[in-house]
Amino acid sequence: MNRTQGFGFARGLLITLLVLASGCATNTITGRSQLMLMSEEAAIQGAVSAYSSMIGQLSKKNQVEVASPRVTRVREITNRLIAEAVRFRPDSAGWAWEVQVIDEPKVVNAFCMAGGKMGIYTGFWEKLKATDDEIANVMGHEIGHALASHTREKMSMAMTVGVSTALLSVLASSRNTADYQRTQNTMALAAALAITLPNSREAETEADQIGIELAARAGFDPRAAVTLWQKMAKEGDTPAEFFSTHPAPENRMQRLQLLVAKVDPLYQAARSGKTAGPLPDFLGMAANERPLGGVSRDEYAARVAAEAQVMTFVAEEFERFRKGEAVFSCTTDCMFSYGYQRGSWKTMHDKGQWRELAVGVVKVGYFNDFSYFMLGEAATGLGFKEVAKIYYARALEARKAGRTCAGAFNTCGDFPMDERIAAALGSATAGEAAAQSENINKNK
Ligand SMILES: [Zn+2]
Repeated sequence: MNRTQGFGFARGLLITLLVLASGCATNTITGRSQLMLMSEEAAIQGAVSAYSSMIGQLSKKNQVEVASPRVTRVREITNRLIAEAVRFRPDSAGWAWEVQVIDEPKVVNAFCMAGGKMGIYTGFWEKLKATDDEIANVMGHEIGHALASHTREKMSMAMTVGVSTALLSVLASSRNTADYQRTQNTMALAAALAITLPNSREAETEADQIGIELAARAGFDPRAAVTLWQKMAKEGDTPAEFFSTHPAPENRMQRLQLLVAKVDPLYQAARSGKTAGPLPDFLGMAANERPLGGVSRDEYAARVAAEAQVMTFVAEEFERFRKGEAVFSCTTDCMFSYGYQRGSWKTMHDKGQWRELAVGVVKVGYFNDFSYFMLGEAATGLGFKEVAKIYYARALEARKAGRTCAGAFNTCGDFPMDERIAAALGSATAGEAAAQSENINKNK
């Protein structure tokens, strides 16, 4: 091995170690594990700075539309989509959402960066004659990427391939002002690069699922997702730029058709006004600002997060959980994913993300007391008291069967499991729980 190879190898190894140490995170919406080299906060800051310099440059060239009817419509459409996005990611109510219409009539493209910074090119109207329903579906798809942290995932990829050297120097350096500036620049560079990198087909499928549902819930026809992709595919010799960053997953059309059938009831409900209510202004107002007689973004987020609704594509797991029907038998086969995801369950627990926690635990399906305890906690958090008892009791049963997190490798964390279970099930079982856990500790 010569010196250059040695360096390359060392760098590769270092990146691999970084990834293993801190880089993977479980997505709270999709349950998929992703490469994440930076915190969400850092990704959002990088995106904000990349976005403002991009829009600034386009503005100078008079390529940012202002106060056109088209801009007004796009703002109305995206505001309704954001209101639905917040339902599933309450923290996004605090994002500095922004949308700009970029005047490039030949370009068919759109994006949503980390933190809700969006852009749509005028090619959608000039070339594709896109309808409002189609615009809603494309922006829903883009917002789906941001909600599922795909932009952060791509920023992480940008770092490992393009700017890894810069990243390493940043990581190695101390925290003085120049280094801070350099970190910011690296993040902005990664954010700018990220929107030019293709999404994985897996990420495309996720964004299709999330996007079509956001649009349907916001009262836009999900069938427009199908016509939109058909129009773009027909572009022929000048394929839409969109496809370079949004590669088609296999059988996209068939999958979209299936999704249309699934989310159509949501669309019909939204159309009939059953789910309509006053929406906060996500594109202007500050998160805690309350217009006269209206709700603030924060208040709205808290209200809709308390409604026990989940995205349709995770609804099956959630329904099983809600009916108290989640029963686990998987041991060795699920051990790895349990070990991998347990940490993120703790985070979701701390943040009170009960729906995501429940879906995550059910998806892994690992048989032990900790899995059931987490379901008990999620049910408690969501106000399903009777269901919570079922899961706390199953946690005890699992423990009796020797399936406990308090084994040789303690994976229980610092949860007061016994107290919580006892409080939920009553004192008779409390003694039993304590005795069980004592036995386990003695046997160690
Ligand atoms: Zn996409």
